[in-house]
Amino acid sequence: MQYNYDFEIASLLVMTIIFLHFTFIRQFPSDKTKIFGMLLLTCIAECCINILSSVGLANAALVPQSVNEALAFAFFVLEGLNSYLIFCYFMVLCDFQGKAKTLVRLLGGVPFLLFEVMVILTPFSGFFYYFKDGAYYQGFGAGTGYVYLVYYFILNVVLVFFRRRVVSRRTQVTMMLYTVAAVGVIVIQYRIRGLLLTSAGNTLIIMMTYLAMQNPSEMLDPVTGIGNESALGIQLKNRLNHRTDMAIITINIHKFHHINTVFGMENSDGLLREIGKYLLQLGGKFHVFHNSGNTFTVLADTQEDTERILHGLKTRFGQEWVVQQNHIVVNTAVVVQHYPRDFERLPDYMGMRQMLMEEAKASGARTVIETDEAFIEKYRRRMQVEMAVGRAIQDRTFQVYYQPIYSLKERRIVSLEALVRLFDEELGFIPPDEFIPMAERDGNIIHIGALVLEECCKFLSRHVLSNVSLGIRTVHVNVSTVQCLRQDLTEMIVPTLEKYHVPPSMITLEITERTAISTPERMQMYMKALGEMGVSFAMDDYGSGNSNCSYLIQFPFQEVKIDKDIVNAYFAKETARIVLENEIRTIQKLGIPLILEGIETKEQSEAMERLGVDYIQGYYYGRPMPEQECLRYIRNFNQFPEDYACQQ
Ligand code: C2E
Ligand code: CA
Ligand code: CA
Repeated sequence: MQYNYDFEIASLLVMTIIFLHFTFIRQFPSDKTKIFGMLLLTCIAECCINILSSVGLANAALVPQSVNEALAFAFFVLEGLNSYLIFCYFMVLCDFQGKAKTLVRLLGGVPFLLFEVMVILTPFSGFFYYFKDGAYYQGFGAGTGYVYLVYYFILNVVLVFFRRRVVSRRTQVTMMLYTVAAVGVIVIQYRIRGLLLTSAGNTLIIMMTYLAMQNPSEMLDPVTGIGNESALGIQLKNRLNHRTDMAIITINIHKFHHINTVFGMENSDGLLREIGKYLLQLGGKFHVFHNSGNTFTVLADTQEDTERILHGLKTRFGQEWVVQQNHIVVNTAVVVQHYPRDFERLPDYMGMRQMLMEEAKASGARTVIETDEAFIEKYRRRMQVEMAVGRAIQDRTFQVYYQPIYSLKERRIVSLEALVRLFDEELGFIPPDEFIPMAERDGNIIHIGALVLEECCKFLSRHVLSNVSLGIRTVHVNVSTVQCLRQDLTEMIVPTLEKYHVPPSMITLEITERTAISTPERMQMYMKALGEMGVSFAMDDYGSGNSNCSYLIQFPFQEVKIDKDIVNAYFAKETARIVLENEIRTIQKLGIPLILEGIETKEQSEAMERLGVDYIQGYYYGRPMPEQECLRYIRNFNQFPEDYACQQ
């Protein structure tokens, strides 16, 4: 029989070009890329053999039968391998885990083995083909070959369907398209047996896969030409799958935006290219990544490599970088994480990286921080606390305690500060100083803030509004920077006040000077809008930051709260005494009432009274308490103030 192999020759050309492109253009080593490389080689080999055996069969008189038999045998071996490799490619893309992974491996592996066994037996059994008088004939099981191909197409579609949430839309579309096209090719091949289309079908698959899913430029950072964050992700996933030991070194350029501003975009891009080049030379091909503007990652395979790279970084970053005659000093914070010693899963790597970076940045430039047991413990605790916060938001189990604010002039409790409390079933009491900063980082503070305000309004409407004799004029509620930045305070507060019929004048919002400075325009706007409704503002923790009276002029605060640390220092150090007395005098001259925090003894209270302080919040006049206890406390206190305070 004469075969038409025109399509095979065209396919060979196309596949060879793809092969050259694949070989010379940077491809990050991953299971996916390895399988694709093997698939490409198998397809090229299969195509060559197909052409050779067509020629051999057409010239059966000249070519020994054993050569044609060997070519047919090789063709079937590769045909079996081909479908199996395409399946493997999809299996990697779909990223099955656990029992599902084993099942998928069996579903793909068993038919492949059976097929290859039948191919090996064919020279004896004539299952797929046999030769007679130098001519090639299809065997009694030739149809099985088509069933085998269709089986894998269906299997791949099923895999992608089950993992449609993980697999990208583009992969799904490509897969559908080529399944339809390839089934078409099989049908034509089946009907017109003299026309060879195997490689045309393969080329279709290879081309679509290469263009849609194996695109190397997607993995490259356009500025430095080295791998980007996605390439790093794939590389790490791959190493985690194979449990390959490594150290991950993350390098953060300190104040990169300053370099950008001073030297311009062109030079800062040039600097990044220089750094990338140096790191590539230090870490080696496929070991260096540019995550984002100011961050690079280098992977080290051994402990010696890690030490060598760290030494290299220290030396090189100790010198200047020269970019277009500009001499640039670059400071870095470096963090080192070890796998599998420090983490098992990628999310933990990311979480630890972020936390380490925060620590490294906080300790200034030129720091190298490595994970150690104490850090891992701290990280675990953070994860547990974050989960506890998540649970408490969902189940609304946060509680609000109220701490009295005592008026030295009126000799009674006149206000309260609402302080959030978290009691977790597993972790017990978690102090707000621990979870509030975390909640500010992940944005949960918005939910916590809303919850506290709602609880406060409920409390006011149930127990305070109808109970004038209690003498409570306002409740102070803490508002964090994140709340001011990420939401409209007015929209958050007003509907809640209205819902519980709480007059705005009963609410004082406590804002730190850090918040005021970081969002001055918004703060002015909120203070104006809410202030006109009657809401008051108190500057919290005055004295803990870069206190500056100018903020008191710039923002219309109705009260100032002096931080308990300053108050503590006042009673311990002469210099602190001078500073605080001066500050108190200045604020008094500005006519703004003062609240002193952290007063724990009678002596301290008396000392503050002598300085003419207006209000005191401290354990001496009452700790934070749950609402019923607080109500009882206020009633008793206001009846017998002197006796009661002393009991604390
Ligand atoms: P803060 O706003 O400065 O609150 C005063 C803190 O000082 C409270 O700690 C209070 O219990 C404590 N304190 C009061 N008097 C004394 C005293 O005499 N001695 C000592 N040693 N401490 C005293 P707490 O409740 O642990 O809260 C810590 C911080 O957590 C608060 O500091 C505030 O920044 C934050 N926080 C608490 N609740 C909320 C909230 O609902 N929202 C926001 N955004 N932050 C909150
Ligand atoms: Ca406060
Ligand atoms: Ca405070």
